[in-house]
Amino acid sequence: MSRYVGALDQGTTSTRFMIFDRTGSVVAIDQSEHRQSFPEPGWVEHDPVEIWSKTQAVIEGALTKAGLVASDLAAVGITNQRETTVIWDRATGEPVADAIVWQDTRTADLCVDLAGDEGPDRFRSRTGLPLATYFAGPKARWLLDEHDLHERAARGELAFGTIDTWIAWNLTGGVHVTDVTNASRTMLMDLVTLAWDSDLTMELGIPGHMLPQIVPSSGHIATCTGVLQGVPLTAILGDQHAALFGQACFAPGEAKNTYGTGNFMLMNTGSSPLVSESGLLSTVGYQIEGGETAYALEGSIAVTGSLVQWLRDNLGLISDASEVEELAASVADNGDVYFVPAFSGLFAPHWRPDARGVVTGLTRFANKGHLARAALESTAFQTKDVLNAMTEDSGVELSELRVDGGMTNNALLMQFQADILGVDVVLPRVAETTALGAAYAAGLAVGYWSDLNQIRDLWEEEHRWSPSMDVADAERLHARWLQAVERSFDWV
Ligand code: ADP
Repeated sequence: MSRYVGALDQGTTSTRFMIFDRTGSVVAIDQSEHRQSFPEPGWVEHDPVEIWSKTQAVIEGALTKAGLVASDLAAVGITNQRETTVIWDRATGEPVADAIVWQDTRTADLCVDLAGDEGPDRFRSRTGLPLATYFAGPKARWLLDEHDLHERAARGELAFGTIDTWIAWNLTGGVHVTDVTNASRTMLMDLVTLAWDSDLTMELGIPGHMLPQIVPSSGHIATCTGVLQGVPLTAILGDQHAALFGQACFAPGEAKNTYGTGNFMLMNTGSSPLVSESGLLSTVGYQIEGGETAYALEGSIAVTGSLVQWLRDNLGLISDASEVEELAASVADNGDVYFVPAFSGLFAPHWRPDARGVVTGLTRFANKGHLARAALESTAFQTKDVLNAMTEDSGVELSELRVDGGMTNNALLMQFQADILGVDVVLPRVAETTALGAAYAAGLAVGYWSDLNQIRDLWEEEHRWSPSMDVADAERLHARWLQAVERSFDWV
């Protein structure tokens, strides 16, 4: 009897395997970090072989902790750090080089070349994305150029994949697949047809036969071998898309916001893509085999939780991230101090690479409590800016925001978030929404859960913060923030 569902969460810093039961509760988890390489300024690499070996270890680890064997799993799903790019030899399965991680900026010049006179929005109407170093296609092109691989690629000897594809290939003994959500981050897929676009693959110089087959996010994909011998692989979703699924945002207008190192807000926009006019990305939310395709708008904020790390590591204001709450609570309000953490420019919705961090409004009155408070408030204000862009693009006024991620441990921030947005902020019982989403999508495909309604019913509220600030006060604070944001522009 298969009583559980497994989810492999291959993230930027670590790999986790989690086992869930029918109520969506966590039964076991095992986790392992992998090495980050920074061979040159702006470059970030991972060793795909190390990631695969950690993957096997955490799968075995979690099964052992739960006292289970592979055949106790009804299905398994993969969720992953998005855009990170691997090329490997089809015959030996060996990577030609280390993976280029999503944060890596080495393709900046290539992206400028590709943009040409038409500018960074050249492919936006077809892919939903601006030309930026973030996405996978240009990374693959860079690997082909740098390692002189075009001929081998043309002969069909090489395989391209994002991390989901790499893991699936190894888990299944060589099935070459990706799902629609991961494919939507390559700049090679047409957002409407959900197929590789031959014009785009030609423009980027990536032969079509290097590319994996695009499959739905939830459906029968393959059967695993090795550590998961015989278990059906029935889901693949990029991490933020999996979190959207795990938060049960199945209806248009429902949105989740993940507060981690950076923030990622995704809103379900229904069955056709919405091209953003307000600086957001258009992406696939998920696709269910034989069922619906949901699109999403995405707003990414580069610096949120990492600003708290910066207060800890670069200023020594706190010794642990959790201490920022007490420090911020030591003052009654921000004392008119605003902190715009444009450490690497500003992402959504401003997209200002020329911006750099500023602190405004300092007087003799300001102390470290105000700085801590301004740092926390910047996360809430940036979220407000992204949400405003979403409302503008979608015409949907959010009724509540579902949240997850490390910073949701901070009650002061969550209350302030509700105050600034003017909507309820709601935390679910199972905070591991990414792995949970992959598990839900996998279980759905094998009938472990019958339909989306059943999954929606499993979503349970842990905590709710409701707005308690005067609307005029919230608007005044936000207007002040926007003034500070302007002061960060035009620095480089
Ligand atoms: P990721 O998945 O991006 O690694 P997590 O969801 O694990 O991130 O969240 C970690 C981030 O949350 C860190 O940047 C940390 O500074 C921040 N963080 C953790 N606890 C708190 C807290 N109590 N208050 C504010 N920030 C916090």
